Amino acid sequence: MEMERKYHLAFAYWTVTMAMSRVLDIRSRDFCNPTSGDGISAGLHNKPQFTNSRTIRMSRRALGIICWFLLYSILSLDPLQAQTADDQSTLAKALETISRGRLLSDISILSGPEFNGRQTGSRNDLTTALWFQEQFRMAVQHPLDSHNRQPSNVLPESTLTRSVHVSSIAAVPVVQIGMTSDNPAAELGADYLPILDSPSINLRAQIAFVGYGIADPASGFDEYDGIDVHNRIVLFLRGKPEHYAALVSHADKVRTAKAKGAVGYLTATGPVLSAYEARRGMTGRPSALYGLTDVDMSLAGAWISTDIASRILTDHDHEPGHPPSLRELQETINRTLHPQSRMTDVDAKLSWLTEQTSGMLYTLPITFPSTEEDAGGDTIIIGAHRDHFGRQAGLLFPGADDNASGTAVLLEVARVLRQTGAHPKRRILFLSFSGEEQGLLGSRLYVEQPLIPLKRTKAMINIDHVGVGNGRLTVGMTGFEKSVAVQAGQAAGLGDKLDLYGFFPGGDHVPFKEAGVPTVTVVSAGVHPQFHQPSDRADTLDPEILVAATRYVLALTWQLANAP
Ligand SMILES: [Zn+2]
Repeated sequence: MEMERKYHLAFAYWTVTMAMSRVLDIRSRDFCNPTSGDGISAGLHNKPQFTNSRTIRMSRRALGIICWFLLYSILSLDPLQAQTADDQSTLAKALETISRGRLLSDISILSGPEFNGRQTGSRNDLTTALWFQEQFRMAVQHPLDSHNRQPSNVLPESTLTRSVHVSSIAAVPVVQIGMTSDNPAAELGADYLPILDSPSINLRAQIAFVGYGIADPASGFDEYDGIDVHNRIVLFLRGKPEHYAALVSHADKVRTAKAKGAVGYLTATGPVLSAYEARRGMTGRPSALYGLTDVDMSLAGAWISTDIASRILTDHDHEPGHPPSLRELQETINRTLHPQSRMTDVDAKLSWLTEQTSGMLYTLPITFPSTEEDAGGDTIIIGAHRDHFGRQAGLLFPGADDNASGTAVLLEVARVLRQTGAHPKRRILFLSFSGEEQGLLGSRLYVEQPLIPLKRTKAMINIDHVGVGNGRLTVGMTGFEKSVAVQAGQAAGLGDKLDLYGFFPGGDHVPFKEAGVPTVTVVSAGVHPQFHQPSDRADTLDPEILVAATRYVLALTWQLANAP
């Protein structure tokens, strides 16, 4: 871009030189050459001598050249081009300013004991919102404004709130599977976790395997056909066979199990990962999850490890003709869509107490203050959820990767933009969501009551778990050409580290996508072994990955905020 401007200037200089020499040439010939007109003596007293037709032609030509020069100069100093060069250097400066120390410090505070796992609707929902606001103010505030600030214990009027259920499993829940002398009790966290909004339960029952737990007789796929699960605990795999087209949620499966008479359920990731599960880096470990069924259809359940689930189906001697393993059953269902449901000879005991209260959710929108209003209110949203699971079953869920990491990226982007004195063309709105883990409640709330009309929202960038992985970034896009993601990657120096996809299911960008806003989701690629587990601590994060994600989000935000 710099080379191009130098070329423009050189050409402009040449044009003006030519024009001026032509003017001087005309003047000297007209005034000095006796044959060219009526002569100097006449000219001194008689203006018309300078208006002979040749001279007029020459003068017009010179004026024409000057006009072309002026026009060319204006074009070559097009503010967009000038701004682009400035934008590039501002971005380069901002990229250099990113601090891994600040990122890690924010994450360790957010995932530390003070915020107790940041559960939606708990008192920590409010305290983390206040903390975020305070950090944002410190990040972007001009030193001279420091005496002029609002009290830090009040959220802005634009904060979105709603009442939510707050559910927590009391310590210590018990899940015992096939308690025989050679089958030790399952271990909380590693082998099982109760579904976090499960009702209290205390019972023992036989386990019935129901495949993926789908009952859809209309499409010929009914995994409850021919098996009576009354008073049984059903075991179903998460997800669905890839050849089964309809969408089915965890809550759908719970409702089905309840309607079929089951008294509890176990769920597990299948031994065969779907492409989506592999891309999300899922492991066989149990994960914290809200079931999200209505109270009248809720059923107590637990997520168990793939290992334990496999043992439930093959807890037999491996004699010839042994029953098929969980992997074999899953492969058969995936391949044929023929149900493989069956009663097992294993029983399970489920026992825990659930405390149910209600509380408030806080989704916090903060506008980047140095933004000018010259783009008619066009806005780029950059969002991340800050909620997690709190303390459940006596275990703290720190949520360092999910999603203290994304929250820290938001703050760091705001800081470096401010430090470099950036003036993006479009408004940038930072959104700190709560309620993501409870079904995207905070982002749905924003889409229902947007601060800026959604049609003026030109992009929503969502950042979620960007702290661990294989060093690459997964970028999911809707409503954009891939070149947008590629350009930002090049600007951030990460051109060869991006895995580009279309729609990325799951995350706070989903309500925006459904409302027609173009979205970009940024997730660190590869396995997230601590996903939704008590081990998702700050010391498991990779600072290089965090910095790379911040660089990418900054470059992308800057590019979209300054797009013509
Ligand atoms: Zn999560």
